[in-house]
Amino acid sequence: MMRIDILSAVPQLLSGFVDASIVGIARKKGIAEIYVHDLHDYGLGKYRQIDDYPYGGGAGMVLRPEPVARWIEHLQSERAYDEIIFMTPDAPVLHQRAVNALALKQNLLIIAGHYKGLDQRIRDKYVTMEWSIGDYVLSGGELPAAVLTDAIVRLLPGVLNDETSALTDSFQNGLLAPPVYTRPAEFEGMEVPPVLRSGDHRAIEQWREAQSREKTRRIRPDLLGE
Ligand code: SAH
Repeated sequence: MMRIDILSAVPQLLSGFVDASIVGIARKKGIAEIYVHDLHDYGLGKYRQIDDYPYGGGAGMVLRPEPVARWIEHLQSERAYDEIIFMTPDAPVLHQRAVNALALKQNLLIIAGHYKGLDQRIRDKYVTMEWSIGDYVLSGGELPAAVLTDAIVRLLPGVLNDETSALTDSFQNGLLAPPVYTRPAEFEGMEVPPVLRSGDHRAIEQWREAQSREKTRRIRPDLLGE
């Protein structure tokens, strides 16, 4: 069974996430275990402080290294982690190939940053991999950690059923997914493309492939190397 541990300053943000939807299903089916840990558990002093002023001055607070290091050491004393991943905007942008590779691992530890970020020494000493979820800045790493966890867990065998197979989604074949339709066949004067109702599986495949290519060329030519 895959295990994902998430270190967070605001674990409440993730409590609904780990119980609901795909991730909840994976847990209930015994396919993945996901644990969220509060950095304040190893906070300093009476107020369980986890942040402090930045050396060199400037705005914002920085996560102190000790609470993060203690959590990492604690978890590492119980099992070996394949990767210790820090979610941060100053990193390469996450992509499907990386997610596919992570879905083959056993134990992952994901660190959600907060405030201005994480003391660089933690990144230097413990973190083995860093991902951004896009070129914009959020206030905390919880949503990015949830994004990565969801993307991984939905790939684990047995989580999705056939109708929602991950293999036909965008990016798995390097293209955007084709348009999808369901009933009714006519909605407010708009018809479902007849080929999809033809029962001709070859023609349907060809139509989907052509739509995928056209859409990718129009919206994401970078995926085609154009
Ligand atoms: N000072 C940092 C931003 C800190 S934002 C900088 O300018 O690069 C606070 C935390 O939110 C980060 O530590 C990170 O964990 C998370 N975060 C914000 N935007 C993110 C993104 N695009 N991808 C991944 N994590 C992000």
